[in-house]
Amino acid sequence: MSRAIEHLQTLPWQQNTWATLARQLANDRLPNGILLVGPAGVGKAALAERLVAGLLCEQPVGAAEPCGACNGCTLRKAGHHPDLVLAEPEAGKAILGVDVVREFNRKMFLTSSRGHGRVGWIPAADSMNAAAANALLKTLEEPPQGATLILVAASLAALPATIRSRCQLVPVAIATPDTALAWLREHYPELDDAALGWYQARPMLASSAEVEQGARQGWKTGLQAIWAGRGDPLAGAAAIDEADADAWAAYSHHLLRELLREPGGGNGWPELGAALNRQGRAALNRLADSVQAALHLKRSQANRRLLLEVQCMEWARAGRVIRSQGQQGAT
Ligand SMILES: [Zn+2]
Repeated sequence: MSRAIEHLQTLPWQQNTWATLARQLANDRLPNGILLVGPAGVGKAALAERLVAGLLCEQPVGAAEPCGACNGCTLRKAGHHPDLVLAEPEAGKAILGVDVVREFNRKMFLTSSRGHGRVGWIPAADSMNAAAANALLKTLEEPPQGATLILVAASLAALPATIRSRCQLVPVAIATPDTALAWLREHYPELDDAALGWYQARPMLASSAEVEQGARQGWKTGLQAIWAGRGDPLAGAAAIDEADADAWAAYSHHLLRELLREPGGGNGWPELGAALNRQGRAALNRLADSVQAALHLKRSQANRRLLLEVQCMEWARAGRVIRSQGQQGAT
C-alpha cells in the first residue's frame, strides 16, 4: 500500500507561508538566505521542496507555481538538476561536517548551468558542527550571483547567531488541531484515535507510520516482550527491517505514550504498579529521551541499525528497572 503524498501540493496549514514566499519569488525579492524553522513533522521538508521547485521552474504558472513540465522541473523531478546543490550529513553520520559544506560552497560558486542561478538546499542545517557553520558563513555573506540558499532547521538554538542573522527567518506554521485531524483522516484513514491524537501536532510524521496494521501489531508485541524481559533486545532489533526504522521510531514513541497514559495496565501493557520510585521514573525518562532523540534523527543518515538496537535496549532496561522495583515493593 503506497500513497506517497504529493509534496508539491501546499499543505492546508502552510498556505499563508507559501503565498508570502511565492510573492517574493515572483517579484524577485527573495533574499539569498532563507531559514525555514519548525518542530519535527510540521512539513518543513514539503515547504522547502516547493520553494526549490519554484526557484528551478523555468515556466512558472501564476505567481510562482512550478509547472511540473518544463526542462527545469523535469530535471528536478528526475533528481539531477545541475543547479541544485544539496548538503546533507554523509552516510552513517548525524553531523553535517565541514568537508561536505566546503564541497557545497565550491559547487555553489560554479556557473549556473541553466542560467537561473544556483539553489543550495541544506535540509538539516541544525546538524552542522561549528566548523561547518563557519564555512557556510562565507557563502551566506557573499553569495554567488543569483544564488539562493535554503536552510531547514528544527531548532534555532542549534544554529550560530551569525548564520541566523544572515537569513530571512520563516517560521513554518503548525497546523491547528482541526486542520491537522481533517488532513490526517483524509490521507491516513487507517489511523486509530490514539494515533490521530499523537500525529495531530506533527502530521507529516504519519507518513512514516503508514505501515500495515499487522506490522504495527508485531512491533508492539515485540516491544512488550522486550519490556517484560521475555525477548532479547538485540534479537528484537534485528527483526525490524532497517527500511522501517523511521516508522518504527515514530511508533515506539506512540507506544511509550500509551504506556505512560495507562500505567494501570491498559492496551495490553503490564501494570506499572503504584507510585514509581525515583529509579523507575528515571528509567522511564531516560527511555523517553532516547525515543525522542531517535525521532529527531529521522532525517539524518544516522546508523539505523544501531539506532534500533539502542532503542530496544532502552526498552529492556526500563522494563527491568521497573519490574525489580515491583518485586522490592512486594517483599
Ligand atoms: Zn517548470
